[in-house]
Amino acid sequence: MSSCPRCQQPVRHDDVSCPHCGYQLKAFGHPGIPLYRANPEEPLCLTCTYHLDDSCNFPKRPYAQTCTLYQNIDEPILTPPPRRQPAPWYRRNPTLVGVLGLLAISLILALAN
Ligand code: SF4
Ligand SMILES: [Zn+2]
Repeated sequence: MSSCPRCQQPVRHDDVSCPHCGYQLKAFGHPGIPLYRANPEEPLCLTCTYHLDDSCNFPKRPYAQTCTLYQNIDEPILTPPPRRQPAPWYRRNPTLVGVLGLLAISLILALAN
């Protein structure tokens, strides 16, 4: 269990705000959107990947004290694994392929006689 940055009381990982002092812990009232906060001396942008690669266009850059998209330069960006292509229809329906093959052979034999 983590603790509240303001009052140091324990908070659950999905608490939107601290149940003890009301300090905002997540952005937009959603438990799935983390709210990153800077320490008073250093804005978040100074250690953010998107500031260093110049890809951020947030208006609060480069002095952001809070941000939902902060990405620490020392932490790797997790990318989702590549999507697997679905198997072709003939691999998903081997019975149908067998029946069609038998029908084709039967038709060829019937036409040959
Ligand atoms: S994503 Fe947030 S912390 Fe990063 S550069 Fe932009 S405003 Fe700053
Ligand atoms: Zn608190």
